[in-house]
Amino acid sequence: MSELNLVLLGPPGAGKGTQADRLQGDFRLPYYATGDILRQAVAEGTDLGKEAEPIMKAGDLVPDELIIGIIQERLNTEEAQDGFLLDGFPRTVAQAEALEEALDELGRSLTAVLLIEAPDDEIVRRLSGRRQCKNGHIYHVEFNKPKHEGVCDIDGLKLIQRDDDKPETVKKRLATYHEKTAPLVDYYDDRGFLKRFDGCRSPTEVHDHIRATLATLRLEEQI
Ligand SMILES: [Zn+2]
Repeated sequence: MSELNLVLLGPPGAGKGTQADRLQGDFRLPYYATGDILRQAVAEGTDLGKEAEPIMKAGDLVPDELIIGIIQERLNTEEAQDGFLLDGFPRTVAQAEALEEALDELGRSLTAVLLIEAPDDEIVRRLSGRRQCKNGHIYHVEFNKPKHEGVCDIDGLKLIQRDDDKPETVKKRLATYHEKTAPLVDYYDDRGFLKRFDGCRSPTEVHDHIRATLATLRLEEQI
């Protein structure tokens, strides 16, 4: 079987998390969110984890070389031999180049970069409509209304809007995302890795489209 070495890209609220869950189920690929694997390396006390620990404790940014080293350790494990889903890295062109080198050293290369996109106004509508109670039960004022407005169905607690979901905050997060990600999208597009998916479609339609795209890529590989 050929490998599926995948990077996931997309703004918050475009449905990346849902698709990551489904892809893991379809292909049994390990899912590596950068923050998680950094914390895991620290918890396991690997050499690189020990290096990262004081930096993370101080709240500083972990340098690229260290992150890439930790990712490389993960990609070289048994569980990632048939492929992986990488989320949250790379975020810059320099990181993308470092990832390419790291894979090269392992005799591997990327299969595709999956970009799940949605227009900003759609994302603002999705995220700013979210409401949740203190127990973390999540609703949406349009798509998933509670039985009684402003009250959690499960525990009767008041539903509030997180600061992160306020329209102004969402717009700022999106502006940062576009500024940082646009060069990365171009970089992968130029190299023929980029596959775009319309996050405005239903999760099932997006999922079907991704599966069809990956199936085609595998067929092309065999020719
Ligand atoms: Zn609740």
